[in-house]
Amino acid sequence: MTTCDWNDLGAKLKAAESLITSLDGQDDYFHDASLFNARPSAILKARSTEDIVTAVLFCRERGVAITPRGAGTGLSGGCVAAPNALILSTADLKKLEIDRPKRMAICGPGVITKDLEEAASAQGLAYPPDPASWLESSLGGNVAEGAGGLRCKRYGVTKDYVLGLKAVLADGSILRTGCFNSEEGLNLGDILIASEGTLAIITEIALRLTDPIVRGTTILVAFDRPVDAAQTVSDITAAGIIPTVLEFLDGDAAACSNAYEKNEGLDNVAAILLIETSDTGQAGTIEAICRNHHSSFLRRETDPEKAETLWKVRRNLSKAVKQSAAFRISEVVAVPNSKFPSLVDWVAEENKKRAPLRLNSFGHAGDGNLHVNFLAGDDTPRTLALVENGIEALMRKTIELGGTVTGEHGIGLAKKKYLSWEFDPPTLRLMQAVKSVFDPDRMLNPDKLL
Ligand SMILES: Cc1cc2nc3c(=O)[nH]c(=O)nc-3n(C[C@H](O)[C@H](O)[C@H](O)COP(=O)(O)OP(=O)(O)OC[C@H]3O[C@@H](n4cnc5c(N)ncnc54)[C@H](O)[C@@H]3O)c2cc1C
Repeated sequence: MTTCDWNDLGAKLKAAESLITSLDGQDDYFHDASLFNARPSAILKARSTEDIVTAVLFCRERGVAITPRGAGTGLSGGCVAAPNALILSTADLKKLEIDRPKRMAICGPGVITKDLEEAASAQGLAYPPDPASWLESSLGGNVAEGAGGLRCKRYGVTKDYVLGLKAVLADGSILRTGCFNSEEGLNLGDILIASEGTLAIITEIALRLTDPIVRGTTILVAFDRPVDAAQTVSDITAAGIIPTVLEFLDGDAAACSNAYEKNEGLDNVAAILLIETSDTGQAGTIEAICRNHHSSFLRRETDPEKAETLWKVRRNLSKAVKQSAAFRISEVVAVPNSKFPSLVDWVAEENKKRAPLRLNSFGHAGDGNLHVNFLAGDDTPRTLALVENGIEALMRKTIELGGTVTGEHGIGLAKKKYLSWEFDPPTLRLMQAVKSVFDPDRMLNPDKLL
């Protein structure tokens, strides 16, 4: 691909300056929030669906790959350029219309998740999915990753809110699914959810809105053993209680938060749970379950402003953990609720065995999601080998416990190698066949997922 070729694409776009071919100073587009990094061939900041169609047809003719990109907060390398690819950013597609009578929002993929939540709230409605990255992540990335969030236990995840999608296919045609087309027939929209930019480029998203979320009591509770916290999670679920949020942090993660926030006094606990009840009646039962498992500290807040100081502990956790070591790799896996204590226990045991690595964990416990961080003082080849070995052990343990290695952060580049550990050959063959139907020339994010 020559510069002259890209100029040809520039000439076909409404605004040639939306195509960036001189990549100096564009490093932000070379990576996401993982460690993966690659220089694309060019970057297109699409301003319209027409720009995307033009780019797809242009790249198709020349056999050039396209890597779609949202806000770049992914943790599995999904939006990192495939070799010689065009990065196609949908971050500037920010249409946001709320249809109050229909209780739905029609959004461009570049809308920031929290902006939709605020727009819905201004109209007396709510958009519940709330990935911890919601101040930065885009709806296109949320759909393409099938993102979860803190409130997923009670309110579900992104896929539970998608009513319809518009997307540009690899041949430049436009697919309309769900409410943008007919509700009958095969549900093609569902195939696009969590397809990580490998099947189509999402250009418009219709999302279901709900009644406002009732903020219940926020409870922060500490334990002297991680397994007590994890067992509390299992017992809350077994009691049929569905809190709005149920987050787990092990002691090391809590200490990282304490050092970052400098206000919680949580540097000497083995684990904490952060819980938001979905009604006032739940708090008493939840607190009794916590006491049964020997909780050592409990704080409850009903005032939303004071509760927000507790939620900062969780929302800033990823940054807090990152700041605690020179090198970090964060993995996320998910296991059935009943197996959550076993996984938490396993991480604590591995942490003792794997020095000089430090392991800690936190996650949306209500959904069985656990982020496991591998932390080290350097990134020498020896350290990287230790981390790789630790990650493989984590994936094997997750599968042994009947869980999923993808957790909520997708496959991307990070977890490709574990795909065949989790899925059987017929399933993998079917996934490859679906890819071939949507994208026979393997042009869309060809090195990701499959
Ligand atoms: C601090 C932190 C906290 C996080 N917390 C959570 C969490 O609680 N839950 C969770 O699920 N994730 C979480 N994440 C991961 C990440 O924020 C989500 O995966 C998010 O959905 C990615 O959105 P994005 O706009 O940044 O997408 P990007 O990172 O830009 O892209 C992600 C994938 O989507 C594809 N894509 C993007 N836009 C489009 C489009 N328009 N059409 C087709 N494909 C597209 C890309 O090709 C790529 O494969 C967290 C990340 C960070 C850094």
